[in-house]
Amino acid sequence: MALGYIFASAVARWRHQKLTLWLALVAGILPDFDIFFSGLGLVHHTYTHSLLLLLPLAAAVVWWRRDSLPYVVGVLQHVLVGDFLASSVPLLLPLATVRVGLELGMPSAADSLIESGSLLLMLFMMWRSGDLRRLFDGERANLLMVLPLLSMYSLTWLAAGEPELGGLVTYGFSRLALDAISSGQIALAALMALSVLASALSRYRAGRGSPTSAQRGELAGPANTSDDKVAHAEVGPR
Ligand SMILES: [Zn+2]
Repeated sequence: MALGYIFASAVARWRHQKLTLWLALVAGILPDFDIFFSGLGLVHHTYTHSLLLLLPLAAAVVWWRRDSLPYVVGVLQHVLVGDFLASSVPLLLPLATVRVGLELGMPSAADSLIESGSLLLMLFMMWRSGDLRRLFDGERANLLMVLPLLSMYSLTWLAAGEPELGGLVTYGFSRLALDAISSGQIALAALMALSVLASALSRYRAGRGSPTSAQRGELAGPANTSDDKVAHAEVGPR
């Protein structure tokens, strides 16, 4: 999820595009949503991790909406960076079942290092870009931060039942390697929950008539553009 933000944020910065924070976080774990469909026979780390299927889909989405590029890159890095390093991915499904990856292990010291390192890098990039401030400035879109928050925890919960990751959650929580990951996950969850809270509080205040920080910006004059206005301007295809 942190890697999703790092890549999406870098692309958005390159394109001078305002990043939708919750979407960047969801993009980073989107291929793992296959876990939600395991009841329908979809095996985790198979078709949703196939580059042969993902690349044409990614190209079509970007062709349809240019401003989806940061999030599409966020999805692709999940397979090409995160999962490639920690485990292996079937890049050519359904044509071939061959799996490629460095298989550093999950859990492993290397995996913990990647997880904690990417979380720290994400926080640094958020601080530098002003996204950290945006998390708590009451932006309406931050209400949707419940989506990455719920996704992260429901996927972790459901992953415990996956054959491939079966032992991981039960045996792993006592180990140092997973301690780093779970404390990082708690920090990330706290960040997202606080962001939702700040946005809800801001909506509540707006409902009661006292101006939100965004509205105060509008009152200050037309040159002072609020975040919400910029967000609307970003909606149209480029
Ligand atoms: Zn995955």
